[in-house]
Amino acid sequence: MSRLLVIGCGGVAGVAIHKCCQNSSVFTELCIASRTKEKCDALKAELEGKTSTVITTAKVNADSKEELVKLISEYKPDAVLNVALPYQDLTIMDACLECKVDYIDTANYEPEDTDDPAWREIYEKRCKEEGFTAYFDYSWQWAYQEKFKEAGITALLGTGFDPGVTSVFTAYALKHYFDEIETIDILDCNGGDHGYPFATNFNPEINLREVSANGSYWENGHWVETEPMEIKREYDFPQVGKKDMYLLHHEEIESLAKNIPGVKRIRFFMTFGQSYLTHMKCLENVGMLSTSPIMFEGREIVPIQFLKALLPDPASLGPRTVGKTNIGCIFTGKKDGKEKTIYIYNVCDHQECYKEVGSQAISYTTGVPAMIGTALVLTGAWKKPGVFNVEEFDPDPYMDMLNKYGLPWVVDENPATVE
Ligand code: NDP
Repeated sequence: MSRLLVIGCGGVAGVAIHKCCQNSSVFTELCIASRTKEKCDALKAELEGKTSTVITTAKVNADSKEELVKLISEYKPDAVLNVALPYQDLTIMDACLECKVDYIDTANYEPEDTDDPAWREIYEKRCKEEGFTAYFDYSWQWAYQEKFKEAGITALLGTGFDPGVTSVFTAYALKHYFDEIETIDILDCNGGDHGYPFATNFNPEINLREVSANGSYWENGHWVETEPMEIKREYDFPQVGKKDMYLLHHEEIESLAKNIPGVKRIRFFMTFGQSYLTHMKCLENVGMLSTSPIMFEGREIVPIQFLKALLPDPASLGPRTVGKTNIGCIFTGKKDGKEKTIYIYNVCDHQECYKEVGSQAISYTTGVPAMIGTALVLTGAWKKPGVFNVEEFDPDPYMDMLNKYGLPWVVDENPATVE
């Protein structure tokens, strides 16, 4: 019996909420709150009659701690699931702290305005000290550790697919397959086709920022930074086939480097087609990926936000997307003194996701783990005071729920490796 407040009502939220409603013995009551209340009402109308979860909706601006505190105080949830944008992570954590309610999210903090001088000063210091230049990092949220501990509440960070399931796969590999993990290659392959010349599978602003940034990987205790898309490999993905993939910086590298003892190298690769890369480069070259406001016909606009308005809404890609995703981790290491390599992965079919919850596989592979992480906090299996990444908890109940709720996984004990 529990009451959940979900913040955000986009692609990922839609799936997470559908999945909560399939698990209504845990999620007895749920409030969907977002900036555009009409979207929350439409989702409520779609689900009502199909679930015993009692759904209400609310309007909230999650950039305002005061509005959040008011909503949390009125609704009195047992936990808050943040599936709005990474920009809102800190205001939502602050509100949870004030109201002493558990917090769960799927992406680490990143500021909306990267020109803000106060943020920029801290960012530039971090770039120098840590050696990676991504705008997002865990330091902001890890800084809440003592405050959450003192308040006796849990923050579960990054329970999507990557980060999220990939981190749980790592904890599972360490628990059941290795005495020591030496290398981790996280592979994110989307073999889906939506038929548009250019569209992003999740929030365009977040997606394009991530992909156009420098790459980086963790090796022998420090970061190695690359130019964007500098490192390219080909991999033959089970059930998808051969795809080009590129090394990116990704947030779980930072937490896995901290939490997996003795790991020597962690890399992250994502597949991209040539058409996607050509479009992105062109948009970048003309300034459309910029987050700095410009004046246009007497009004201030942010180029990437304008671009977002032109691109297809990721939530609308569901009916058109065909093909499969294959996301997982290749681990090398030692067990009982012997070298060992395994690939743990999930294959997800875009059209099957659409038939089940009306969404494509990218939102599905994030929304299902968002529900699972939240359920584990709410049922007490993953509840302890402080701020945690998913690999810090027992992976077994999470792995069981992945099989049960639509993301079955495979352990290949003889996989091809990435050079
Ligand atoms: P969408 O853009 O589809 O949805 C975001 C939602 O948040 C929208 O409903 C939006 O409202 C709402 N929102 C934005 N700003 C505010 C605000 N100030 N106050 C209240 N609501 C707000 O994004 P996605 O669903 O694709 O992504 C959601 C999250 O999931 C992101 O943080 C993303 O980074 C993360 N993610 C994580 C992945 C993982 O594997 N770990 C993979 C993919 C995504 P409105 O409808 O009004 O715009």
